[in-house]
Amino acid sequence: MQAEVGDKVRVESKGMQYEGILMPSQTRSIVLKLKNGYNIGIRQESASVTLLEKKEENKIHKPISEPIKIKKEKLPNISILSTGGTIASKIDYRTGAVTSQFSAEDILRAIPELEDIANYNCRMIYSILSENMRPSYWSELARAVYEEIKNGADGIIVTHGTDTMMYTAAALSFMVETPVPIVLVGSQRSADRPSSDNAMNAVCAATVAASDIAEVCVVMHGSTSDDFCTIHRGTKVRKMHTSRRDAFQSINAKPIGRVEYPSREIKMLSGYVKRGEKKLALHDKLEPKCALIKYATGASSESLLFHSGSGYKGIVIEGTGLGHVSTEWIPHIKNAVEAGIPVVMTSQCIYGRVCDRVYDTGRDILKAGAIEGEDILPEVALVKLMWALGQAADIEKVREIMRTGIAGEITRSTCI
Ligand code: GLU
Repeated sequence: MQAEVGDKVRVESKGMQYEGILMPSQTRSIVLKLKNGYNIGIRQESASVTLLEKKEENKIHKPISEPIKIKKEKLPNISILSTGGTIASKIDYRTGAVTSQFSAEDILRAIPELEDIANYNCRMIYSILSENMRPSYWSELARAVYEEIKNGADGIIVTHGTDTMMYTAAALSFMVETPVPIVLVGSQRSADRPSSDNAMNAVCAATVAASDIAEVCVVMHGSTSDDFCTIHRGTKVRKMHTSRRDAFQSINAKPIGRVEYPSREIKMLSGYVKRGEKKLALHDKLEPKCALIKYATGASSESLLFHSGSGYKGIVIEGTGLGHVSTEWIPHIKNAVEAGIPVVMTSQCIYGRVCDRVYDTGRDILKAGAIEGEDILPEVALVKLMWALGQAADIEKVREIMRTGIAGEITRSTCI
C-alpha cells in the first residue's frame, strides 16, 4: 500500500532511519513530522519509504466525535469564548502549517479532564492569530464577556493567541468590572507537539475560572516542567520569551497565585478581588487612535511630530531609564499637550517605576506636561490611554484617570 499524507511512515536514507507523519511537500523532498514535533526534509532520490500506520489509525489525528457531556448539576457553569491562536490550532496537512481552526468545543473534546471542573458553554468569537486583534475587537469581546456573565456564567475563559494576550487582558481589565473570574489562556506550543502546553494551561485556566478570584487574569505555564501554572493579574503580565512555555511573567507585581498540576490546588501569592465583591459593569468605549513610540538613542523627534500632527488622540512614549527622551523631543511634547493630546511617559526598562523628578531632563518633561506612567507596562499604558480617552475627552480628566489605579495596573509606592 502506498503512503499518503497523514500516514505514519519510516524513511531510510543514507544509512539513517526516520519515523514520523508524512507531510505535504511542494518540492522533491519528503517532509516528515517527527515524534518531537519538528519537521525534516529528506531528498526523495536517496530515500525509501515504508508505511507503518494509515492515518485513520494513528492516534494523533484520530477524530473525536462523541458529543459534549451532559450538564452536571453541582459543577459551575463556565463560558469559553475562543478567539484563536495556538491553543486553538491544529496542523493543516494541505500546507503543513499550524492554523487557528479549533473551536472551543474541539478544545473540550480534546481535553476530557476539563469535564471534572465545570459545565461549559462555548462561543467562537474570532478565529484569528492574535497579531490580527484590533482595539475594536477588544470592545466586542468585552461585550461578549459581559453578556455571558449577565446570563449567569460563573466564570469566563477566553482562549487567545499568546503574542498579544497581554493587550487583550489589559483591555478586558479596564472594560469589565466583574463579580466572577475572567481568565485568558493560550499555549506556546501547538497540540501536535509532544511538549504542547495547551492541555495543562486549559485545565489550570478552568480551575481558576471556577475559583473565587474575580479578576481578569492570565493563566499560563509557570515553569519549564508540567508542575504548575501561574495566575497573573491582567494588567501586570507580559510575554517575556518567544518560545518558552513559561514565557509569561508578572512584572512589577507578584502573581495573584499559582495552580499546582495535576492536583489543581490553588496557592495564593497576593491579595485579590473575591467572587461577588464587585458588581458587573461594562465600560467598552475606546479611542483607538493612540500610539506607542519607543525612544532610541538619537531618534529624531519626527515620529512624535508625525503622530501629534496626524490625528492621534493620545501618545505613550517608551522612554529610557526613569522615563527620559532626548532634550530635542521636549518642546514637541509640550506642543502636543498644548494641542490637547495627552502624552504618557513609560520606561523601556520594563521593570521599575518612571520618576521624572530626579534629573533635569525628567523635570523638563514634566514641565512640558507629560503624565508619569508610574510602574505601568508601556503596552498597558497604551491600552489604558485608549480606554481613558473613551471615558473622557478633557485632557485633565484623562490625566486624572491615568494617574489613578483602575484595575491593579499601578503598584503604589513613592517615586525613588
Ligand atoms: N502568533 C500567534 C498568536 O499570537 C500564534 C502564537 C500563539 O498563539 O502563541 O496568535
